[in-house]
Amino acid sequence: MNQAVVERIRLFFIESPIKMARLQGVGNVKGTVKRVLVELTASDGVVGWGEAAPWEVFTGTAEAALAAIDVYLRPVLMGRPVRRVRETMTLLDRALVGHAEAKVAIEMALLDIVGKASGLSVADLLGGRVRDTIPLSFSIADPDFAADLERMRAMVPAGNVIYKVKTGVKPHKEDLAHLEAMRSEFGDAIDLRLDYNQALQPFGAIKILRDVDAFAPTFIEQPVPRDNLDAMAAFVAALDTPILADESCFDARDLNEVIRLKAANAISVKLMKAGGLLKAQAIMAIADQAGLPGYGGTLWEGGIGLAAGTQLIAATPGISLGCEFYMPHHVLTEDVLEERVANRNGHVVVPDGPGLGIRVSEASVRANARILAER
Ligand SMILES: [Mg+2]
Repeated sequence: MNQAVVERIRLFFIESPIKMARLQGVGNVKGTVKRVLVELTASDGVVGWGEAAPWEVFTGTAEAALAAIDVYLRPVLMGRPVRRVRETMTLLDRALVGHAEAKVAIEMALLDIVGKASGLSVADLLGGRVRDTIPLSFSIADPDFAADLERMRAMVPAGNVIYKVKTGVKPHKEDLAHLEAMRSEFGDAIDLRLDYNQALQPFGAIKILRDVDAFAPTFIEQPVPRDNLDAMAAFVAALDTPILADESCFDARDLNEVIRLKAANAISVKLMKAGGLLKAQAIMAIADQAGLPGYGGTLWEGGIGLAAGTQLIAATPGISLGCEFYMPHHVLTEDVLEERVANRNGHVVVPDGPGLGIRVSEASVRANARILAER
């Protein structure tokens, strides 16, 4: 039996330029996004990669993720048998509360190593593929809506038909005008989804949601703040359009509350919220029981984090509403991979090959790293 242990941990604090501004209501993003890359080397020489991509208004900070791994998780991880992934994750949870992004970065690096050493993909390790491609959603979040509409004119004919509009940032009337413009130009050829990122207050929200409901969105994501589950339940009861919980559903405990209160019809599954691929699958097992499909959400992950998400969705039947893994092809100027995970006909193609199915560009990592923690 392979007894390889974790022998070396290198951490890279990366600040990546982005091509377009993103208007999200909270935490508007312009210029750069920060993330932490983890490289683990096993005693048999096999290398695995992970990524922590927090967002300060959502889960936490990249600076905190770096310190969490470097100071608190490193001593637990060094010398651990690489194959005992679940046991290692339990030890990390005991050593440090929270910091889901730091923990998932380590778990994906361990699974990458186990996969490479065994010739299996991470999807294989998670139970095997149930799908080979994942429908890709692009987010309409440019402060300049005309620029997004222009992008759609190129993307729709190329097969990208799913668009998630970040509503609630601009005045309601402007949102309605944008939805009208998209439906009148593309009709039913596009699958429209809306994401309020908690922008509405429960008071008066139902009127606004009834207005946007007229544009037949596939779902309305997180209309009100995360703790307003009673209001979410009222929308579920009042509207035909399904309500999707994102900020309201980080982990299994949150999901149990959502189910108990009937506060959503679907959930956004994000590795950076769940703190692990194994935990994300456990969350989906609960969601499956309650009849809630999952959607592959993101914060600001690059190629490594999204490769892990792709492997997860490939092996998790319930995450059936597609994914928003568009960053490497449309927003980031680089994603530190030798070759980006392919997009074809509006779908993300699950990469072949062992582990995460990617090759990290050492040159790109070194060129983009602001801080290197190596001990
Ligand atoms: Mg969201």
